[in-house]
Amino acid sequence: MVESLREVVKDPRVLDAMGRVPRHEFVPKALRSRSYVNTPLPIRENQTISAPDIVAIMTEALALTGSERVLEIGTGSGYQAAVLGELVNEVYSVEIRPALAETARKTLEDLRREGVLRYRKIDVITGDGYQGHPPAAPYDAIIVTAAPTQLPVELINQLKPGGRMVIPVGDFYQELQLIEKARSAGDPKAFTTRTIIPVRFVPMVSPEEIGDPRPAGAGTNRPR
Ligand code: SAH
Repeated sequence: MVESLREVVKDPRVLDAMGRVPRHEFVPKALRSRSYVNTPLPIRENQTISAPDIVAIMTEALALTGSERVLEIGTGSGYQAAVLGELVNEVYSVEIRPALAETARKTLEDLRREGVLRYRKIDVITGDGYQGHPPAAPYDAIIVTAAPTQLPVELINQLKPGGRMVIPVGDFYQELQLIEKARSAGDPKAFTTRTIIPVRFVPMVSPEEIGDPRPAGAGTNRPR
């Protein structure tokens, strides 16, 4: 699998990390034989684990060097979080569907205990990613793996100056965007946006959309 990824990404650290994380451990048992094929695969609750090339492209776009604190929105199976955990010191991953968060947490803990993964810190948080994860903000990098229809401003607020965010944006037609926040001089809220490639992710949803009766917290930014 990693050999074929060499065609899409160059960063040796990303290729190494992906070589170390056993994707089959994050895939439902019945689909394990397809774990190392370059295709997205269904996980529970109608969600999907992204194709390996998309994981590689998004991870490389964050330009990580090792000391970063990274926030992921959309834990899903936990695979992307595991890849990040092999690359940086601290990973926080927010998942809105409690059952998925729980399974991902367990998969990650088991693999760590067995010595398969060596991450220092991966925290899986059950919650609404539109609000980011304020307790550990600001982040050097943010990766969003579900698609909102518009850029969630609160996530940009939780990026450090000079920080990067990769995020699919759109409805049916989505674009993977790379956001870079201004380094300091001038407007601290300024950022640039670059489109990487067209993509297709599951939608980013609000708690109300999946029938969570909890009221939205203050200061949320929800594009609906
Ligand atoms: N990165 C995952 C795949 C993500 S699929 C992996 O490596 O397996 C997208 C995930 O985003 C789904 O699990 C979905 O439940 C979650 N999601 C959707 N809207 C969300 C929100 N507002 N906050 C947090 N997670 C959300």
